[in-house]
Amino acid sequence: MKLATELDVLFSEQQIAERVANLAKEIEADHQGKELVLVGVLKGAFVFISDLARKIDLPLAVDFIGLSSYGEATESSGVVKITSDLTRPIEGKHVLVVEDIVDTGLTMRYLLDNFATRHPASVKICALLSKPSRARARIPIRYLGFEVPDRFVVGYGLDAGEKFRNVPFIGVVKE
Ligand code: 5GP
Repeated sequence: MKLATELDVLFSEQQIAERVANLAKEIEADHQGKELVLVGVLKGAFVFISDLARKIDLPLAVDFIGLSSYGEATESSGVVKITSDLTRPIEGKHVLVVEDIVDTGLTMRYLLDNFATRHPASVKICALLSKPSRARARIPIRYLGFEVPDRFVVGYGLDAGEKFRNVPFIGVVKE
């Protein structure tokens, strides 16, 4: 893939596939006999949720929520807008929020507070990536793929101005 030559690899396709399969097994073990709803946060989580869902051997529902942060493009302001809401109520359901990356955590904080008002049976977070050095809100990430350094990462659903979402690994733009 030509696009891929613009990036240094941080996590390869194979590393991601192995980690996603392990996360799926943990999720499966924790949700036996429960009504599970995977909620993908658009757009960045679209690749991750499709791989993850196919590795979880349980009946489950899939829904999506679109969020956008006001303010600077590169930094979350904590003021979040729902641009596209869930299609179904989550009352009484076990919700697993599937997110690409938790950076400052302000977006997830908003989402957790918003979901709490909808009375789900439980809400847990599955994040592919976390940047702990940048955390400004304490977010309990129950299932985490990888920790990343304070670099702007792309690929596997994550973009830089809509570019690189379709690159199959996670990387950083070469300097
Ligand atoms: P937070 O509210 O945790 O600061 O920001 C979360 C959102 O910011 C993520 O869902 C993602 O869309 C975006 N984001 C944060 N860090 C990165 C990064 O390194 N790469 C990309 N592509 N997006 C990021």
